Amino acid sequence: AIPLHGVPGTSKERTFIAVKPDGVQRGLVSDIIGRFEKRGYKLVGLKLLVPSKALANEHYADLSSKPFFKGLVDYMTNGKAPVVGMVWEGPSVIKQGRVMLGATDPKAAGPGTIRGDYCLSIGRNICHGSDSAESAEKEIGLWFGGKGEVVDWTSNNEEWVVSDN
Ligand code: GDP
Ligand code: MG
Repeated sequence: AIPLHGVPGTSKERTFIAVKPDGVQRGLVSDIIGRFEKRGYKLVGLKLLVPSKALANEHYADLSSKPFFKGLVDYMTNGKAPVVGMVWEGPSVIKQGRVMLGATDPKAAGPGTIRGDYCLSIGRNICHGSDSAESAEKEIGLWFGGKGEVVDWTSNNEEWVVSDN
């Protein structure tokens, strides 16, 4: 068995991707899942929840000194809509996940990216993706702690999508 957070640098690399409450409220869950699925990445974890303040505080701990931190945590946790948390697996999924999301400020995000196609404001940028192997490990452990919440499975497509040679 491989670690919960996958094996960075291999075809078993894993990242934490989330659709934030604005993305759920705006009906963008299927589009965001579809982009990762169609690219060939494998869904190994999926849940819908209103995160607790403790979870959101820990998730964004590195931003706790920023002026927007309180508003950010409130937006994630106020329950006006839930968050969809996911773990995706595949080659370079951490870096490519970030590329697929687009720049943090949607005004700088290119067309063809999720943020570049669907949003305009940094405070409502609809999605999250781990920014490094260390973040992926931390975030997958935080959002998917429970036994069996991340599933090891073999996609029958894999030989047509992933080749190491
Ligand atoms: P990300 O990794 O691309 O999501 O960006 P960061 O880790 O830098 O910031 C986390 C989240 O905080 C962003 O996705 C935004 O939702 C929010 N955020 C970052 N910078 C700002 C800002 O200047 N103003 C506001 N309102 N929110 C921000
Ligand atoms: Mg970040």
